[in-house]
Amino acid sequence: MNKSIAHIDPKAERKKLIKELDKIVGDWIKKRDGWTCQRCGSTTKQLNACHFYSREGKAIRWEPLNITTLCVGCHFWGHKNPLGFVRWYSEKMGKEKMDILELKKRNRLKTSLVNLQMIKQIMLQQIQEGTFGEGSMF
Ligand SMILES: [Zn+2]
Repeated sequence: MNKSIAHIDPKAERKKLIKELDKIVGDWIKKRDGWTCQRCGSTTKQLNACHFYSREGKAIRWEPLNITTLCVGCHFWGHKNPLGFVRWYSEKMGKEKMDILELKKRNRLKTSLVNLQMIKQIMLQQIQEGTFGEGSMF
């Protein structure tokens, strides 16, 4: 019996892949935003890739329209002031982009191990080709 195959735990692999995708997209978002907090303009504070809609919604978990760069302080502010955060984000994005995000939010994304592997492959290819961006998540 092949030992390496016998020890693959699909659940753990899925978790690992989701984390990997979070990291790939998080880094891409921070680079896109010029390593700058999009609310206060800080470039020196610790930066987070912050989601407008929670990461629970897998269809938009890696959708660039749903993620922005915030410093830890502004990220905290967002969670403490949900209404202010919604106003700020909607204003920053504009109605058209918010409408697209809203539509994408309704999609269902299969997050089986095979699908996640495919998503990672496509994502890395798009990033390399420079075609990954707002609205590019399936
Ligand atoms: Zn900030």
